[in-house]
Amino acid sequence: TAVPTIALNDGTEIPQLGFGVWQVPADDAADVVAEALKVGYRHIDTAAVYGNEEGVGRAIANSGIPREELYVTTKLWVGDFKAGRTKEALRTSLQKLGLDYVDLYLIHWPSPADEAYLDAWKAMEELQAEGLTRSIGVSNFLPEHLDRVLEAGTIVPAINQVEIHPALQQRSIQEADEKHGIKTQAWSPLAQGAVFEDEPVVAAAQAHGVSPAQAVIRWHLQRGRILFPKSVTPERIASNFDVFGFELSEAELSAIDSLERDGRSGPNPAEFNPS
Ligand code: NAD
Repeated sequence: TAVPTIALNDGTEIPQLGFGVWQVPADDAADVVAEALKVGYRHIDTAAVYGNEEGVGRAIANSGIPREELYVTTKLWVGDFKAGRTKEALRTSLQKLGLDYVDLYLIHWPSPADEAYLDAWKAMEELQAEGLTRSIGVSNFLPEHLDRVLEAGTIVPAINQVEIHPALQQRSIQEADEKHGIKTQAWSPLAQGAVFEDEPVVAAAQAHGVSPAQAVIRWHLQRGRILFPKSVTPERIASNFDVFGFELSEAELSAIDSLERDGRSGPNPAEFNPS
């Protein structure tokens, strides 16, 4: 399967479809990621706070896949950057992953009660210069947080990873990202299953003889977003990747667009200040 790649503003490319491992238990991560690599995924999205970087690293090491064929993202936890430990945090993640570099390092949340994320961004720029991460970006940043990073930093984030699915499309965030040359990644792209019974999703799935999950994945791909659905079930891991043999029509895509209902499942970044 040839997964399309998306060009980022730093000259690198990212596979548009990947595999996410939030809530995959540490003890299962190696097996689950091995399954994903077996069916062809080459882009893995993890985070320090997921607690499963070691398992991800084990699966990568055991796969025998050349490092340059893989795209690995991890994320900087808020408590680490608030304590001024951004660079140590990436070194710890690399050690757990068993890698010399990650492809993408993201600030996980802005946690905007203070502006510690601005110092974190400066440290991220240094980590990129040191070669410990190819690309640097942010996650859950609202346009106002992006503006502050653009004022304080010298590098424009390559990525903003935010919650996006048919029930929460975040159009103003996507427009702000695009204006600055930042690519948007969709987290919880399947709304964790919450849109699988919605009529436009069911209709598109039936018309193409695919599952609702596959129809939603196609909708993201055709709308140009980068995504990494999660599953721990081998059949679903495989079918979520088997999405390159059909295409939704513009009418099917816009019917799914119409499912927007402010259906947020995660925290609102403006009010979320974890430590
Ligand atoms: P998702 O939208 O990918 O949904 C996953 C769930 O949907 C599964 O647990 C399963 O219940 C169901 N599912 C998956 N495939 C299915 C199929 N084929 N048929 C039926 N049901 C199916 O949810 P997610 O895990 O929240 O998001 C994906 C990834 O996004 C995460 O693993 C993580 O990597 C990333 N993420 C990032 C943040 C962030 O703050 N940056 C937050 C949440 C998630």
